[in-house]
Amino acid sequence: MTELDAAVIGAGFAGLGAGAALRQAGVQRFALIEQGGDVGHFWSKTYDRIHLHSPWHDLPNDGGLIRRYPKFKSRDELIRYFGEYADRFDLRRSIRFNERVAQVKREGERWRLDTSAGTISVRYLAVAPRSTGCRPCRGSRAASSTPAPASTRASTATAGRSRAGARS
Ligand SMILES: Cc1cc2nc3c(=O)[nH]c(=O)nc-3n(C[C@H](O)[C@H](O)[C@H](O)COP(=O)(O)OP(=O)(O)OC[C@H]3O[C@@H](n4cnc5c(N)ncnc54)[C@H](O)[C@@H]3O)c2cc1C
Repeated sequence: MTELDAAVIGAGFAGLGAGAALRQAGVQRFALIEQGGDVGHFWSKTYDRIHLHSPWHDLPNDGGLIRRYPKFKSRDELIRYFGEYADRFDLRRSIRFNERVAQVKREGERWRLDTSAGTISVRYLAVAPRSTGCRPCRGSRAASSTPAPASTRASTATAGRSRAGARS
């Protein structure tokens, strides 16, 4: 079993924001667990011609990165923005890619995560998998069986600011 201070499930909008907040707070041992092979996995599953219909998808403390992009970003621009943001906070080294969380359980003062790669025990958990049933995302339907109830029980709220998540 791997023991960490904190974990974030998902490396999308909300997950990346939470990861950046953990890095900025100086948390030493944390991981983002992402079932896809890169940040922005959800978007890589959508139609390649998609453009966001809302203009304000900035992640917290992005240092002005968002201003390099057009107001209504394409899917590929959004994925690139995620990548730049992850690099800004050196998040990739903390992301466990291609690992899917199957179950979350409360064990005493900690959370136990059973993943496709083993078991992780953490003190703090942020849940940001945004389960989706969207048609172009069928390839990531595994997300629909993510531990949704845990999001309401998690002892920490998602630290990231995700206005996009709030709309979905
Ligand atoms: C076609 C389409 C167009 C959209 N356009 C807009 C728009 O213009 N404006 C807007 O506000 N919103 C839009 N949305 C909604 C948008 O998807 C969400 O607002 C946004 O992606 C939510 O961010 P999030 O971080 O909550 O989740 P996501 O960005 O979906 O990130 C969740 C991450 O968690 C990972 N994950 C899931 N389950 C697990 C698991 N069990 N283990 C490990 N990792 C897991 C996923 O792979 C994913 O990378 C659109 C959605 C669709 C389908």
